[in-house]
Amino acid sequence: MPPHIMNPGTHEPTLEFARRRDEADPLQGLREKFALPRRGQGEPLVYLCGHSLGLMPLAARGMVMEELDDWAQLAVLGHEHAHRPWIPYHENLRDGLAALAGARAGEVVAMSSLTVNLHLMLAAFYRPSGARRRILIEAGAFSSDRHAVASQIIWRGLDPREALVELSPPVGTDTVPEESIESYLEEHGAEIALVLWPGVQYRTGQAFDLGRIARAAHRAGCVAGFDLAHSIGNMPLALHDIDADFAVWCSYKYLNGGPGAIGGCFVHERHDRPHLAGWWGHEAATRFRMRPEFHAAPGAAGWQISNPPILSAAPLIASLALFEQAGLQRLRQKSMALTGYMEYLLDRLAPDVQLITPRAAESRGCQLSVRITGPLGRGRRVFEAMTARGVIGDWREPDTIRLAPIPLYNSFADVFHGAEALARALHLEP
Ligand SMILES: *Cc1c(COP(=O)(O)O)cnc(C)c1O
Repeated sequence: MPPHIMNPGTHEPTLEFARRRDEADPLQGLREKFALPRRGQGEPLVYLCGHSLGLMPLAARGMVMEELDDWAQLAVLGHEHAHRPWIPYHENLRDGLAALAGARAGEVVAMSSLTVNLHLMLAAFYRPSGARRRILIEAGAFSSDRHAVASQIIWRGLDPREALVELSPPVGTDTVPEESIESYLEEHGAEIALVLWPGVQYRTGQAFDLGRIARAAHRAGCVAGFDLAHSIGNMPLALHDIDADFAVWCSYKYLNGGPGAIGGCFVHERHDRPHLAGWWGHEAATRFRMRPEFHAAPGAAGWQISNPPILSAAPLIASLALFEQAGLQRLRQKSMALTGYMEYLLDRLAPDVQLITPRAAESRGCQLSVRITGPLGRGRRVFEAMTARGVIGDWREPDTIRLAPIPLYNSFADVFHGAEALARALHLEP
């Protein structure tokens, strides 16, 4: 992208400008490869909600239909003779996920779902002993993560009031600087068994330097695990090189795998540790001998429990192909440009909203979270007015609207329409 186009000084708050940007966008053609939701049979909606549920790649339908047809025609023989045989089905996803995670192929596996995978990782990696019994998470963590961590603590006979540490942003701020995590661990790291941190915080949209967090955790002797629900497919990742111990994610947000899609996890190749097992983690060549002993398949594949859900994995194959086609670098470039343009428009058209997400591009991904100030209930009404104008974002109690332009399928014009709808809704709801 030419530097003058990246430069926010040259932005203009007009639809014409946004359309010119779209015409110059080398990734513009990818939008046609997705189903764009519509209002009834009419106009496409302005979809800025890919952080919650990614859009359907059009090729997903064919992928799923092929599995249904193979099931219809081959039944049990499909395990070996389907177009994509079902027994090694997870291997269809391995290389694409490894590329997005910045991992070696053997370090990732598509399996199960996010929170279940988090439990499986905690079962193996959370080893409270002696004075080192605590888990460090961020205050305001996604509820499911907090439930998983608290219940794991209780499961070990410990008390979350003592063993769950939630690090808050500095008073009066919304985001947690990496220095806060580093200094907490320098001071209290000897009590912490495991650090679980998000790649991107779901509510604020803050992206973290995961390498810094992993280094700080390891210096203090703690395990470093990451929840990448809001970062895989959104931010560049380098899980292997930063030496993360484990990571988990879902595939229905930025990965466009479809509602309830198969989740994924990363286990660094240096780990060979006891974990909860099921037959699909058994070494493939001898799995069907059904012997009582468990011989784990090498790498992350050995952490699988059950045979993969084919119908909830098929769409992800279609989506990963689009990521590969687009190229991660180009996606990130476009993402920074789209989100930068949205920030510019909000500053001009909606100056009374408060941007919670960091303004530095390296500290955020696609998403901007805006706090609607003013009387109680105003935010909700503003959000509903935006929705009525055909702009789909989402609402987080008590006062926050989250909007995320996705470089695979959103346009600069979408960003313009989204910001304009927010500005109008604010005028109508003083
Ligand atoms: C979306 C999301 C989840 C959802 O968990 P599931 O197990 O997929 O239902 C959990 N944690 C975080 C941080 C999320 O963003």
